[in-house]
Amino acid sequence: MAAPRKRKNIVKKRTYTSARLAVVRAQLPEPQRLLRVWKRVLERRLRARLRTDVTVEVHDNTHTMVTFERVRRGWRIRLHHMFLAAPEEVVTALAEFVRSADARSSAVLDRFIERNKAFIRRVSPAQLRRRLRIEPVGRHHDLSVIFSALNRRYFAGRIAATITFGPAPRSRRPRKSIKMGSYSADSRVIRIHPALDQPKVPRYFVEWIVFHEMLHHVYRARRGEDGRRCVHPPEFMQHERRFHDFHRAQAWENDNLDLLLRARVG
Ligand SMILES: [Zn+2]
Repeated sequence: MAAPRKRKNIVKKRTYTSARLAVVRAQLPEPQRLLRVWKRVLERRLRARLRTDVTVEVHDNTHTMVTFERVRRGWRIRLHHMFLAAPEEVVTALAEFVRSADARSSAVLDRFIERNKAFIRRVSPAQLRRRLRIEPVGRHHDLSVIFSALNRRYFAGRIAATITFGPAPRSRRPRKSIKMGSYSADSRVIRIHPALDQPKVPRYFVEWIVFHEMLHHVYRARRGEDGRRCVHPPEFMQHERRFHDFHRAQAWENDNLDLLLRARVG
C-alpha cells in the first residue's frame, strides 16, 4: 500500500491541524476493504472466462502461487496477491490453466510470476525449515548417514541440503502410486517417503532415491522447447546414471514396487 502512506507523509509535513488530519485519514481506502474489492473484481473476470462460479482466495504464500480445485458450483482458486491486478492476458491464461492445465497458459503464468517476484515475501530456507519436523533417522535407515556418504562420494561435499523422512501418509489404505522422494528448492529440504524405511528395502535403493533428489538440488527445473516444465533435463538423466548401483536399484524397484505401495507406515 505505497500510495496511501505517501499521502499521509505529505499531510504530516504540511502540519495540518489534527482535525484535518483525521478527515484525510478517513478518506484513505482501508486495506482490507480494498482487498475485498480487488478480489471480487478478479472473481468476476475469471467467472466471465470460465463461465461458471469462481471463488478466489488470496494469500501471501512464498512458494505455491496458484492452486485450484473443483467445487460443487464451480472453481475455488487460491492465488498470490500479485494476481489481483493482473493484466487481461494473464487472467485469460489463469482461466485456461484452470480449465486444462496446458503448457502455453502455464508458461504465461510463469513469466508473470517471474516478473512480479519482488512481491513474494522472502522467507529464508532456514525459516522454512524451522516449520518442518526434520527426522532423518528411521528405524532401519539413517538418511543423514546416506546423504553424507553420497555428498562426499559424488558431490565433493558441496550439496548444502537438509534431509528427512516425510510425515506418515494420512490414508492407511494401499497406495496406487508413491512419490519416493522430493526436493524443495525453497527450503532446501529433501524428503524421503517413510515407506522406504523398512528392513526389506535395501540401502542401495534408498541411496538411489536420495541421490536422485540431490540431483534436483544441482539441476533446477526449466522450461523445455515445447514450453513444458522439465524437471529431469537430459543432463540430469545422464548424471543419474553415474550412481554406482543404478541398474540394480532400478531392477529392485521393478520387482518390489508392491512392497512400497503396501507398506504401512506411521
Ligand atoms: Zn525427480
